[in-house]
Amino acid sequence: LKYDTSKETIFDKIIAKQLPADIIFEDEKCLAFNDVNPQAPTHFLVIPKKKIPTLDASSQDDTEILGHVLLTAKTLAQKRLPNGYRLVINNGPDGCQSVYHLHVHILGGRQMKWPPG
Ligand code: 5GP
Repeated sequence: LKYDTSKETIFDKIIAKQLPADIIFEDEKCLAFNDVNPQAPTHFLVIPKKKIPTLDASSQDDTEILGHVLLTAKTLAQKRLPNGYRLVINNGPDGCQSVYHLHVHILGGRQMKWPPG
């Protein structure tokens, strides 16, 4: 691996409430908060509280949590973005992942382009 997935990330601090975030939803398994550097009028993240560094690092054991994160993203997105939205999971360096704690981006409020850059 060209990247270190063992370190604490900024998202661990947000989960622990050691760092403030604009939290929009929380339950025992996941947390959703607005992205600090939004790439669309609506841009928030849903993360598992379990420390899974990348999608690559997830396994069959994470089936329930991954499903829960995805359904939470859907529930929050469809309320805010009735005209549609985009989910993104960046994985590893070529995927432009910068925070090594698995997260789903939810983007909307403008017309998305396809293919993405
Ligand atoms: P990645 O590039 O890893 O898929 O996305 C990480 C995202 O986390 C970026 O969109 C970045 O703006 C966001 N981010 C990084 N640090 C913080 C932070 O401290 N607070 C919040 N709310 N978002 C952050």
